[in-house]
Amino acid sequence: MIHITDKTQCCGCGACEQICPKHCIKMIVDEEGFWYPKVNETECTKCGLCERVCPVLNAKQINCNDVSKIHTYLAYSTDTDLRMKSSSGGMFTLLAEQVLSEGGVVFGAAFDEKFLVHHIKVEDRDGLSALRGSKYLQSRIEHCYRETKEELLAGRKVLFTGTACQIAGLYGYLGKDHENLITVDVLCHGVPSPAVWRRYLDEQEALYGAAVRRTFFRSKNSGWKTFALLLEFSNNKAYESILSKDRFMQMFLRNICLRPSCHNCKFKGMDRPSDISIGDAWGVEKHSPEMDDNRGTSVVLLHTSKGIQLFDKLRADLICKVRDLDTALPPRSDSRKSVTPHYNRKKFFQKFTRGFPTTKLVKLTNPTLLRRVLRKGKRIVKKI
Ligand SMILES: Cc1cc2nc3c(=O)[nH]c(=O)nc-3n(C[C@H](O)[C@H](O)[C@H](O)COP(=O)(O)OP(=O)(O)OC[C@H]3O[C@@H](n4cnc5c(N)ncnc54)[C@H](O)[C@@H]3O)c2cc1C
Ligand code: SF4
Ligand code: SF4
Ligand code: SF4
Repeated sequence: MIHITDKTQCCGCGACEQICPKHCIKMIVDEEGFWYPKVNETECTKCGLCERVCPVLNAKQINCNDVSKIHTYLAYSTDTDLRMKSSSGGMFTLLAEQVLSEGGVVFGAAFDEKFLVHHIKVEDRDGLSALRGSKYLQSRIEHCYRETKEELLAGRKVLFTGTACQIAGLYGYLGKDHENLITVDVLCHGVPSPAVWRRYLDEQEALYGAAVRRTFFRSKNSGWKTFALLLEFSNNKAYESILSKDRFMQMFLRNICLRPSCHNCKFKGMDRPSDISIGDAWGVEKHSPEMDDNRGTSVVLLHTSKGIQLFDKLRADLICKVRDLDTALPPRSDSRKSVTPHYNRKKFFQKFTRGFPTTKLVKLTNPTLLRRVLRKGKRIVKKI
């Protein structure tokens, strides 16, 4: 029976909840805004299924791809409009459209009416717009593992997308690979708390005097590299701020409000569980300037023959270039190793639970004078 004593050991995928034959596991939101399984012990028959599907407990068996066989590409869609609407080079939409054109279905993360994120199933091209674009908060899988299994058993092709831990949760739930399943993970820094995001949005709605109508985390109006968070309100006002100036993005990227499991991630190695990984090709302007026009370039890792076959079908709609793995995605990048929690993380959530506004909470991310001096000293020593 699942019993979480160390929160770094649960990525919140919900595979245990979906597999439980007694339906006695519920995902409960904690004070930080992340959900964890809670077992109703009086109904539990101790069958052990929940432990057998858990991707964290079974990470070694699930992360089984051979690192030496990865094919690495820099790539972007030839459709500029699509790239502008996507976070990186538009790879997700190309992959999804191909699977739909073969009669398949696509699972991925979409906003709901409160701008919280859930996984949904999409069956046509119009539906893909809901999945397009990164949403920088944790997505709830809902019943999508169960639905994926039903579609696979019905013989349909399925493209399942999400973070690597969500892909691992799917394989744990399914218990085996299926010929008609293809999985794509987004190379991920970590997922911020949905509750922190919602408080931030409530404040913005109060400031602008209207409900949010649309959000886009990766507006490229100021370019892909200095991407901006865009909020559109129902009174036609809009807020747009580049990532380094927006307080939600500061709290996210300074690692003060990430899920605890993201600081001890079992799925960031290159033996990832998916067929394909996609991310931003940060640093492309230095090693491959010919692949950079500041509209977004993807890094694409093909881990399996299924991944290679699907990618090959897209070549007519792509500009792409082979690169070696460590050039395209340096080992020190945040999507290859767990990030360290901000030293004020505990204080942050103490204040968050006491109702502090994010305008005050963001100040906890600023380094103290002593830390700034120490950091500068370290840089000088390194140079010497
Ligand atoms: C929380 C998060 C952190 C990330 N951190 C990094 C990083 O550090 N480095 C890096 O190179 N890339 C990171 N990415 C990936 C990057 O932002 C793009 O998602 C990726 O490059 C795909 O871009 P695209 O242009 O191909 O397609 P897009 O259309 O932009 O991507 C959409 C895809 O992202 C999925 N997705 C969106 N939001 C979520 C979510 N909350 N949870 C699960 N899946 C989601 C959708 O299901 C869909 O498959 C992160 C993505 C997310 C969601
Ligand atoms: S041990 Fe079996 S019955 Fe008990 S919670 Fe886990 S899956 Fe459900
Ligand atoms: S990681 Fe997933 S399967 Fe494991 S306990 Fe957490 S929610 Fe359940
Ligand atoms: S960092 Fe790891 S645990 Fe966190 S969302 Fe990404 S894959 Fe999951």
